Amino acid sequence: MTKIIDGKSIADRIYEELKEEVIAIKDKPGLAVVLVGDDPASIVYVRNKERACKRLGLNYRLLKFPQSIGREDLLSSIRALNEDETINGIIVQMPLPEHLDAFDIVSNIDPLKDVDGLHPDNLGRLLSGKPRIIPCTPLGVVELLKRENIDVKGKNAVIVGRSNLVGKPLFHLLLSLDATVTICHSKTSDLKEETSRADILVCAVGAPKLITVDMVKEGAIVIDVGINRVDDKLVGDVDFEEVKNVARAITPVPGGVGPMTVAMLMKNVITAYRLQKGNYEHN
Ligand code: NAD
Repeated sequence: MTKIIDGKSIADRIYEELKEEVIAIKDKPGLAVVLVGDDPASIVYVRNKERACKRLGLNYRLLKFPQSIGREDLLSSIRALNEDETINGIIVQMPLPEHLDAFDIVSNIDPLKDVDGLHPDNLGRLLSGKPRIIPCTPLGVVELLKRENIDVKGKNAVIVGRSNLVGKPLFHLLLSLDATVTICHSKTSDLKEETSRADILVCAVGAPKLITVDMVKEGAIVIDVGINRVDDKLVGDVDFEEVKNVARAITPVPGGVGPMTVAMLMKNVITAYRLQKGNYEHN
């Protein structure tokens, strides 16, 4: 029987655990979200983050800027947030308009407040095997695997998608858990050959039905990170209805990785708060 991994109920459990942690903290940790422009998907994601902060009793601040904002004006707001003691986590909602370089902007966030884990300092630490703040979606994927008691040690893990946000950090996380990891991308010559060897297959591309049933090994664990809007419905990158017949376990879209990403952001805000107070040890 295929297990449909219920990311929402796992995330709910994590919220209960985090609530206990927040109660034990004297101050209220705070998250600031920087939103440039009015991309409809970004507005939905930002609202989800606000809701999650409210649920945990964290402070939340939204800074909205027009699409035309210049680099210097944006950076001066970020520097002010870096200095603001009531703010422990800062995220710049992606995508940014073309005239702003995401790497440049994120590099100006205080790395101890970089709760998306995308500052080069945080990504470099992950690569060095000494992670501090880990990007939320890859962290959510490994947390799902852990809570479903899926041992990745010695397994063939295949990731489709090599973004800095998902694929690359996940590569390092799975490697650190002793999986044998392959990463595929738009120039991979035979995607099916690679995915067919996967004991654990993670897809993070943004292409509906990219992963069809003939590309999945019988008994594989399939984690679908993709979010696509098709006929006004959200779907992932995996042909869920077909692939669920061969997988041992599979995440649905919606209700799989998405809720875990927001829960891990909340976890990162608390981690960042602790780092800033100097009472955090990585485990
Ligand atoms: P991205 O556009 O930065 O990267 C996409 C990757 O897919 C690239 O590395 C590219 O090489 C690869 N790719 C493109 N076409 C391919 C093909 N035909 N075969 C193999 N690889 C191909 O995207 P991203 O930011 O990593 O996001 C990927 C998807 O995950 C999107 O749908 C996004 O909405 C979703 N996402 C979901 C969550 C969540 O919480 N569930 C979080 C982040 C991103």
